[in-house]
Amino acid sequence: MVQKTAIKHYQMYIGGEFVDPSNSEYIESTNPATGEIWAYIPKGGKEDVDRAFKAARQCYESEEWSSLSPTKRGKLLRKLAEALEKNAEHLARTETQDNGKLYKEMLGQMMIIPSWYEYYAGLADKVEGTVIPLDRQSVFNYTLREPLGVVACITAWNSPLLIATFKMAAALAAGNTIVLKPSEFTSASSLEFARIFNEVGFPPGTLNVVTGYGHSVGDIISKHSLANKVTFTGGPETGRKVAVNAASNLTGVTLELGGKSPNIVFADANLDAAEAGVISGIFAASGQTCIAGSRLFVERSIADEFIDSLVRRAKEIRLGNPMSPDTQMGPAATPAQLMKIEKYVNIATDEGARVLAGGERPCDPELSKGLFYLPTILGNVRNSMRIAQEEVFGPVLSVMTFDTEEEVVKLANDSEFGLAAGIWTNDLNRSHRMARALEAGTVWVNTYRTSAPGSPFGGYKNSGLGREMGIDAIYDFMQTKSVLVELSDEIRDPFTVRTLN
Ligand code: NAP
Repeated sequence: MVQKTAIKHYQMYIGGEFVDPSNSEYIESTNPATGEIWAYIPKGGKEDVDRAFKAARQCYESEEWSSLSPTKRGKLLRKLAEALEKNAEHLARTETQDNGKLYKEMLGQMMIIPSWYEYYAGLADKVEGTVIPLDRQSVFNYTLREPLGVVACITAWNSPLLIATFKMAAALAAGNTIVLKPSEFTSASSLEFARIFNEVGFPPGTLNVVTGYGHSVGDIISKHSLANKVTFTGGPETGRKVAVNAASNLTGVTLELGGKSPNIVFADANLDAAEAGVISGIFAASGQTCIAGSRLFVERSIADEFIDSLVRRAKEIRLGNPMSPDTQMGPAATPAQLMKIEKYVNIATDEGARVLAGGERPCDPELSKGLFYLPTILGNVRNSMRIAQEEVFGPVLSVMTFDTEEEVVKLANDSEFGLAAGIWTNDLNRSHRMARALEAGTVWVNTYRTSAPGSPFGGYKNSGLGREMGIDAIYDFMQTKSVLVELSDEIRDPFTVRTLN
């Protein structure tokens, strides 16, 4: 049984203080496994967003922040990592209550989040400029990398704190200050994070968390004149709106968007490992991950056997209370998400797909109050069908077969998305050929759903713009200044341009 808890009232975090929204309005946050309201989240508005940006800008310009050396920034980030580690269980419980993902998965996420802050803490004092070798040796030319100012972070509901961390760890290490807006459905972990952040010793205004609806608060944030960069994770449709908003101020964007990732199984693969990888790719986190391997391509010679085994395994997946260690799949995070899953399964069957597993809500009365949907496998799918082209963001796998490597590369790349891809093969040459041929920001060979702070992540095509993680991500939150110093006493003709080469 899921325990009843007192309803929590959260406040926003602006300028180093926890504050009520200016309109005193709140949004209910519901536990997707029980349907119960468990928290009230501030419904921010324009006034709150303005206050947050003002606080972030003031902090950015303050002596306290601007004179903090990169080494000291790194130390603060390390302190934050330690504090997060100590609070991992609490944060994981919060996340599970809010988005319905398994506690064991959320705890895993909370245990690895500190490593992102540690990684960027280590990079903070290793950002170097360059000396430009000019032909004219009397001119000394060097570059400085400087922070951008205030970075606006807008995040999705599926892994709220992890997604926010990808952005904030690099942006803070680079010397920026932050305005963060989490999804209205899962704001609690970002506000709990703010409580921990507040204790670490960053100057007030370094981080500001404004909660509220995307169409109001998110919209205002992404076109705010004090935003020097907008980094967004969410769906492609919203991503476009955010990019247009930011463009109105000529503000740069990073976009981490959706996917329809292929998971490709060749006959020579370790099929047990491949089966586990396919299951993890689509049914872990109830398929609510941007990198979900939602299109399975199986080499025809092994297809019948492989798919039969997969279907058997999918039918055995244990749905239930996400807090229980025995549960393997939790609910969808929101009623709208559950309806979307149902809609897409109907579209697929109308277009000729055959349900091999699932395809409906579970009939177990224990699960009736939650937003559960059975792990679903669809056969008889063609890659041109909507189910194979559009993102469901749920536990729905489309299965297709192929005969040759060339054919499967074509099918896999026939998508507007290009976030990730999986290849299962023991042929070394083929694995590298395929890795080059696939249009995806991440290619996994004989593994799926793995990441590390140092490994760049982002999308090809409509899956995004820019990269998060890795060394280069810190430069995405900086700008380059070129400094030219005349070292001779030469007096110049003021009416001519002087080339330095
Ligand atoms: P979404 O509806 O696009 O929302 C993302 C964020 O944008 C939320 O904070 C949302 O706030 C806000 N928002 C909504 N309308 C806005 C507007 N007009 N202007 C500015 N912000 C606005 O996406 P989602 O349903 O939360 O997340 C699912 C999507 O995210 C999927 O497509 C998934 O693939 C993608 N995703 C991508 C990655 C990646 O790294 N590539 C990772 C995770 C998820 P509200 O929620 O309050 O409306």
